[in-house]
Amino acid sequence: MAPLTSWLRRLRRTPEPIDPALWREARTALPWLRSLAPDADAALAALAAGFLQRKTITPLAGLELSEIDRVRLAALCCLPLLGFGAEGLHGWSQLLVYPDAFRVDRSHVDAAGVMHEGQDELIGEAWDAGPLVLSWADVQADIADPWSGFCVAVHEMAHKLDALDGALDGTPPLPRAWQREWASDFQRAYDAFARDVDRGRRVAIDDYAAESPEEFFAVCSEYHFSAPKRLERAMPAVAAHLARLYAFRPSAS
Ligand SMILES: [Zn+2]
Repeated sequence: MAPLTSWLRRLRRTPEPIDPALWREARTALPWLRSLAPDADAALAALAAGFLQRKTITPLAGLELSEIDRVRLAALCCLPLLGFGAEGLHGWSQLLVYPDAFRVDRSHVDAAGVMHEGQDELIGEAWDAGPLVLSWADVQADIADPWSGFCVAVHEMAHKLDALDGALDGTPPLPRAWQREWASDFQRAYDAFARDVDRGRRVAIDDYAAESPEEFFAVCSEYHFSAPKRLERAMPAVAAHLARLYAFRPSAS
């Protein structure tokens, strides 16, 4: 057994930096990173190196991932952590990657006490302490069409940030005064959005956001990175909180 001191040293070890050539190649394929300033780019590379050290990336169902694919996944998952920092990676250890959308068994008991069982097809999933799960085909589709409001890796990472304080409720851990402001601005925007969806009105972002406050936060986070102007026009207060949380807003040009 290794002595305690060497374990501690290993735990605190700074991650092996990503080879600069590999990082350059990985980042050029990610359109959201093009407008990243050099210091933020270095910060993202360091976060991604920490991700690769701390998370096990497991391709499933015959999928193969190259070293560069893994660096891209790490960079994408760390993009929402530029403002938050590496603490955003706490509490879970595995990234599972399916080749395509995947099916999960679902069961729920309805109001009459009847058990329903079925399957859902998902492109991403994140449980509080469990793995983060992504569909590789959908990650690729996001990269191919980067300004359309979709980014599944950002969506699932937003859930991970949300869950850090133990409650998946659409509010990540924030300083107290900000958290109060956030909760009231998000609640107001969510209620108005859910009402519009209910009434069948045309809405500015994906109506899946009306599902729950936590999905609203995750979907708005996708828009922050992939259609920020649309989000700003539709929900300026929400967009301002996200700009502050994420500390970087990509631009398409
Ligand atoms: Zn979600």
